[in-house]
Amino acid sequence: MGSLDLLIEGGFVIDGSGSPGFKGDVGISGDVVTIFRDAAPDIEVKNQLDASGKIICPGFIDLHAHSGLVILAEPEHESKVHQGVTTELIGVDGNSYAPFENNSDLEMFIKLNSGLDGDPDIARKWRSVGEYLSQYDNRVAVNIAYIVGNSPLRIGAVGWENRPPSSKELENMRALLRESLEEGAIGISTGLDYPPGSYASTDELVVLCSDVARMGGIYHTHVRNHLGDRYLDPFREAIEIGRRSCAPVHLTHLVHRKNNPGGAMPILDLIEEARGQGLDVTFDDFPFQYGGTRALVVFPDWAHEGGPGKLTEVLQSEEGRERLRRVVEPQGKGWDDMRLTHFKQPHNFQYEGKSIAYVSEILGKHPVDTLCDLLLDEDLRTCYVADVVDEKVLDHVLRHPSFMAGSDAMLLGDYPPPSAYGAYPTILGKLVREQGKLTFGEAVNSMTFRPATRLGLKDRGLLKTGMKADIVVFDPTTVNGKATRDNPRQLSTGIDFVIVNGVVVIENGRHTGRLPGSLLKPRGM
Ligand SMILES: [Zn+2]
Repeated sequence: MGSLDLLIEGGFVIDGSGSPGFKGDVGISGDVVTIFRDAAPDIEVKNQLDASGKIICPGFIDLHAHSGLVILAEPEHESKVHQGVTTELIGVDGNSYAPFENNSDLEMFIKLNSGLDGDPDIARKWRSVGEYLSQYDNRVAVNIAYIVGNSPLRIGAVGWENRPPSSKELENMRALLRESLEEGAIGISTGLDYPPGSYASTDELVVLCSDVARMGGIYHTHVRNHLGDRYLDPFREAIEIGRRSCAPVHLTHLVHRKNNPGGAMPILDLIEEARGQGLDVTFDDFPFQYGGTRALVVFPDWAHEGGPGKLTEVLQSEEGRERLRRVVEPQGKGWDDMRLTHFKQPHNFQYEGKSIAYVSEILGKHPVDTLCDLLLDEDLRTCYVADVVDEKVLDHVLRHPSFMAGSDAMLLGDYPPPSAYGAYPTILGKLVREQGKLTFGEAVNSMTFRPATRLGLKDRGLLKTGMKADIVVFDPTTVNGKATRDNPRQLSTGIDFVIVNGVVVIENGRHTGRLPGSLLKPRGM
C-alpha cells in the first residue's frame, strides 16, 4: 500500500453488515477505503482525523428521496447531508422528471408535483434520462441513483388521459422504459395515488415490470392505497405484480395508517409470506408519525383527467367544486390536522404551518373551497403535513429484518415533515440510544448495506477494504434529530463527519461546500 489521503483513527467501526462492530482505523486513498482492525500500520498519511469515542460507519442511503429537482438548485443539500446521507434514490412515487420528449409536458408535470418535489428555478432543457442525469455528476453533495417513474412513460406514450394504452402505446411505453434503464435507471417506480401513473392497471404494470425484471431492475412502489379494502389489498397488488413479472418488489414508505385498526402486523405477514414463497420483497419507512404530500392528493382521479390544465378548470368551475365538496375527504385525523406549507404568494405566507380547518375558518369557506382557492393561487404547489402514521406499530416495522430507511421527505416550505432534517439521526438517537429499540449495528445495517443491496450498489453500503469511501463519523452519545413537527428546519446533532467518494463534505459538523456526488449506475447497466 502507498500513502493514505486520510486516516480516520481510534474509532469504533460499524461496518454496515449488521454485526456490532470493532475498534479500528479507516484509511482512504482517492475514493476507496482500507480497513485496519485495531490500528493502522506505520504508513505515510496526508491527513488524520481523530475519531476516538465516535462510530465510523458507511454513509446512509435514502431509498425515498424527493430531492431530484431541489438538489439542482441547492447542491450542498444541507438538510440531508447533515443527517449522514451520502446516496439518494430519486424518481420515486412514479414521479421522475425524465424522459420527456416534449418540454411542455415536463413543465406541466413539474407543476403537478411541485407540492412534492418543488419547482426550483433551474434550466430544464433535458429530454432523455441520460441528459437529465448528466446534471448530477460532481455537481451535488451526495450520490444519486435514479429510478424511472411510470408517469413520464405513460405521459410520453398515452398522454394525460385516464384510459388503458392501445397495444402500440404500450409498446411505446416499453421502448421508453428500456431506453431509461439503458441510460441509468435502476428500475421502475409507481405512486398509485398520483395521476397519471395511477391510471395504470395491474396488467399494464406487469408488462412493464417484466421488462424491468429481464434487465435486472426493481419495482419500487407507493402502493394503490385506495384499492379494495384500502388496507391489505394495495400490498397484495404490489406482490402480485412481482409474482407475475418476476421483478423484485420494494414497498416504499410502508406507512401504517392511523385510521386502520388492523395494525401493521398483517402487512408484515404478507411480506413474510411472499418472501417464504421465494419472492424478493423488501420495504422502507421513516421514523415519524408525521408525513406529508402535495395537497392535490385529496382530489379523485376524475378531477385530474386530462392533466394539470384540466384540473385547474375543475378547481375553477362551480360545478367541479360542488362535485369535489361531495367526495373529497381529509387525510389522517381531519382538516384540523392537515397543516399547509410551501407558499409563494406573500399574502399566503401567514398560512405557513396552519391547518386547512384554521385557514378555512379565517376565510369563512368550506375546507374544499379553501384548498381549491389556495392551490389555484399557488399554481398547485402547496403541500401539507399530517399525523398519519400509527407510531405504536412503527416499532414492529423498524425492528423487522427487512426494514430499510427512506426519508420520504419533501424539502419544501417552512414546515416540511420532520424527516426532511431528522430521519436518520432520530433513528440513531431516539430509537437506538434513548429507547433501545434496536442496536447501532442493526440501525446502521438498515441504512447502508440493506439499501445498497436493494439498489444493486455492489461497492457501497459496507466498510470493507476496496469499497467506495462514503463514510459517516457520528458521536453515539449526542447523535439525534432535532426536527419536530412544530420546528422542522433543525439540523441534526452528532453527525460530525460525512465523506462522499473520499471527499469530506461535513467536517466537525460543518458543510465544506464540496460537491463530490456521483451518478450511480448499478447492476452494470
Ligand atoms: Zn409516496
